[in-house]
Amino acid sequence: MNAKKKFDHKNDLVLLALGGIGEIGMNCYCYGVGAADDREWLMVDLGVKFGEASEPGIDVVLPDVSFIAGDRRNLSGLVLTHAHEDHIGAVAWLWPQLRCPVYCTPFAAEILKLKLKEAGLDEEVPVRIQAVGSRFKVGSFELEFIAVTHSIPEPTALLIETKQGRILHSGDWKIDRKPVLGAGMDEKRLREIGDQGVDVLVCDSTNVLREGHSPSESDVATTIMKIVREAKGRVAVTTFASHVDRISSAVKAARATGREVVVAGRAMRNTIEAARTCGYLRDAGEFLDEEEFGYLPPDKIMLLCTGSQGEPRAAIARIAEDQHPHVALEPGDLVIFSSRTIPGNEKEVSAVHNNLAKLDIDIITSDDALVHTSGHPRQGELRLFYEWLRPRALVPMHGEPRHLRAQAEFAKRCGIAETLIPLDGHLARLCPAPVQNVDEAPSGRLHVDGKLIVPAADGPAKQRRKLSYVGIVFVSVAIDAKLQLADDLQLIADGLPAGLEDDLLDAADEAFASMPKPRRKDDEQLAETLRNSIRRAADRIWGKKPIVKVAVVRV
Ligand SMILES: [Zn+2]
Ligand SMILES: [Zn+2]
Repeated sequence: MNAKKKFDHKNDLVLLALGGIGEIGMNCYCYGVGAADDREWLMVDLGVKFGEASEPGIDVVLPDVSFIAGDRRNLSGLVLTHAHEDHIGAVAWLWPQLRCPVYCTPFAAEILKLKLKEAGLDEEVPVRIQAVGSRFKVGSFELEFIAVTHSIPEPTALLIETKQGRILHSGDWKIDRKPVLGAGMDEKRLREIGDQGVDVLVCDSTNVLREGHSPSESDVATTIMKIVREAKGRVAVTTFASHVDRISSAVKAARATGREVVVAGRAMRNTIEAARTCGYLRDAGEFLDEEEFGYLPPDKIMLLCTGSQGEPRAAIARIAEDQHPHVALEPGDLVIFSSRTIPGNEKEVSAVHNNLAKLDIDIITSDDALVHTSGHPRQGELRLFYEWLRPRALVPMHGEPRHLRAQAEFAKRCGIAETLIPLDGHLARLCPAPVQNVDEAPSGRLHVDGKLIVPAADGPAKQRRKLSYVGIVFVSVAIDAKLQLADDLQLIADGLPAGLEDDLLDAADEAFASMPKPRRKDDEQLAETLRNSIRRAADRIWGKKPIVKVAVVRV
């Protein structure tokens, strides 16, 4: 018998990540069972990532799920681990391609419903609500939501049981022994699952570079309480709109010090409403609208607002520019940035800090005091998690490449010898052992551009970026039947230094004049000649070559 028995595809359990491996954001993981040509899929999470400065005009980036969409009759469902944008933000955009049932906890369902409503899909998408801790079946996948702690209500890890093996998909998590809201992490159940045996742990890598344990939300609450007690003037607290635990801690501090709470920012108001619907923040009292801010004495007010990432349209950015229609802060007032600056947002956040400084407003950030803690596990927490679950193998997710590598190495040091770092688009076999990349599937990113979804690779963002460096020149040339100019060449430039137009027009005129008549017959050749002459002239004078568009009209 052949010692190397050929792999039996019918028994394989695979993971295809279409997002969330190699970057933070845009999570989308597909678990598949069965033979390659007839595989049943389960999708876990479908998130967005925000557009970067290199993608002008693009607010939102989505994973390209067309591979799974093309096989959607074999897609049994989409399960959402929690309500953060990087896990659910793409559902309203991409569900029309997938058209499968969506499973999530009550809080995630509330947040999702708002998004589906905006997209006009709330009547169409079958949202199946599952309580934290419940077991449910999606196709042939036996699933269980296990309570973890994170930075939003009802975060879950997902146990995925199939005939081929048992996977624990960690979701986003940390170990918080003193959470502010919720029952906390179900350590007992996680240990039980470990005792029953876990084949592969697919695990959050975000904070693997940090040693020790992350502080608890309760410690942050204590700090905020102390700061608010000592504050003499107005206090504004800015945090992530979805961070209900933090909102709760800030409100408690306000109530303890006799301050009314004003909420600014639609996203935060939506979260608060969703949280209340699900039974959170019930004892937080009434919140006031922005309009009432100006009528309250400085020491009787707390503002809760969005904009902790320096978003220019968010409340705190406008307050810092003294441009908010209802809310103004004065010298001696205090803004607490109860957040971390997500890498890439440093410039924008710093601009808000500086604008507040210009108004003589005090600020406290997580550099000054424990006013923020992360929702992701550090090494000490990862080690405990591994001990509870004792997985055969580890696949790191939710991190940049260095985080994934670091977790694979850390897991090895903790005794998990078998690890695999797949890439987005790699098809990794999880069971049977060993974890191994066995195939590849098409993957990529999509840009949300206004109301349209366009491919990121060949989409308009690249051209827009080019435009932002060099500007654009339009030329129109009207030619008569004798192949002469029917009218003067017209040239319009945008985004070029002033005074270049005449020189560029001269260059185009010269190029036209010296063009042999037969060449003038061909629109493309004519346009190319004019385009080159203008680019060469611009390069000679300016040192840069603009984008040039030529319209040829035959009269
Ligand atoms: Zn999260
Ligand atoms: Zn996340």
